Amino acid sequence: MNNSPTVLEINLSSIEHNLNFFRSELNPETKVLAVVKASGYGSDPILMAKALEKLQVDYFAVAYADEGIALRNSGITTPILVLHPQLQNLEIISQNNLEPNLYSKRMLNEFLKLANILGLKNYPVHIKFNTGLNRLGFDTSDIDYVCEKLKEQNVVHVKSIFSHLVASEDEEEKEFSLGQIEKFKSICSTFSSRMGYNPIRHMSNTSGILNYPETHFDMVRLGLGLYGFTNLTEKNSNLKNVLTLKTVISQIHDIKKGESVGYNRGFHAERNMKTATLPLGHADGFFRSLGNGKTYVSINNKKSPVIGNVCMDMIMIDVTDIPCKEGDEVIIFNSREDILQMADHSDSISYEILTAWGNRIKRVLK
Ligand SMILES: *Cc1c(COP(=O)(O)O)cnc(C)c1O
Repeated sequence: MNNSPTVLEINLSSIEHNLNFFRSELNPETKVLAVVKASGYGSDPILMAKALEKLQVDYFAVAYADEGIALRNSGITTPILVLHPQLQNLEIISQNNLEPNLYSKRMLNEFLKLANILGLKNYPVHIKFNTGLNRLGFDTSDIDYVCEKLKEQNVVHVKSIFSHLVASEDEEEKEFSLGQIEKFKSICSTFSSRMGYNPIRHMSNTSGILNYPETHFDMVRLGLGLYGFTNLTEKNSNLKNVLTLKTVISQIHDIKKGESVGYNRGFHAERNMKTATLPLGHADGFFRSLGNGKTYVSINNKKSPVIGNVCMDMIMIDVTDIPCKEGDEVIIFNSREDILQMADHSDSISYEILTAWGNRIKRVLK
């Protein structure tokens, strides 16, 4: 059992609020796939998936097979797309009723081979096309190859066909994004006319939902937005922060002017002061780059800077002017502003701050 005093709280009513906001941006018939990869963006994949299943999302996506298996083992029955399957996991993917993204000739052929051996019938699979990200997916010129392979068989059935936007959050790349959308539409219509059926089409992540309504197609893939973040400030006010990270003060020190605090004497006291030591460090996801005054935490709504170097298991903060005692609660973040400033000051993005927190930190629902 994890009895850590450092707790990441997940606010379910904020998740519901954010999901409803995105639903209000979609046509009622457009499906929602909730992306719960990377431990549900660092929260808790099982708590998240259970909550989202109750809220009747249509699909889940995870990055890797193990993440999908954990969801199945917890009783999740909603379809699960595995975005980035690996060859050696194709068999357990099918055994756990997970749906692979077949993104390359190698993956497609291996899965067809396996499906034949296992005697599968119309097993649901997904085909991804690369329209510019150059990360995963068939080249658009492979469409003939894909249709040929899929035509004369009934071991698999293409549930969906999809692609991913390169810069959905970037207004300056609008022309490139529109080009991707055109490529995707053309691939989808070629597929449908060759194969004689219409798989679910999807292209949009969180920013795509807001910036390119024409990419909603039949389903959208919503990840970061569930946690209250988008790149559009005017839309942000419609969303609520979901995650709160809090801990408690382990120890308070009185530091005399001239003394130092932390490894390598990273901080020098220029006055007599009071410091508090907190039980989380860089091994827990508190980036070392956020030490030495780069960020703050809060005690009773008062901001306290992190001083000295971040240790593996601890940080020290300046509480000279904040009434507090050992055992008091400390908020590491509880708002989008807190999370965004941590991202800004560590040369990072909200995605990385959310997913950084290690498994020594306890997850609880609020
Ligand atoms: C992670 C991921 C998403 C979700 O993106 P957000 O920006 O978090 O909404 C969607 N599609 C794919 C392919 C992804 O890898």
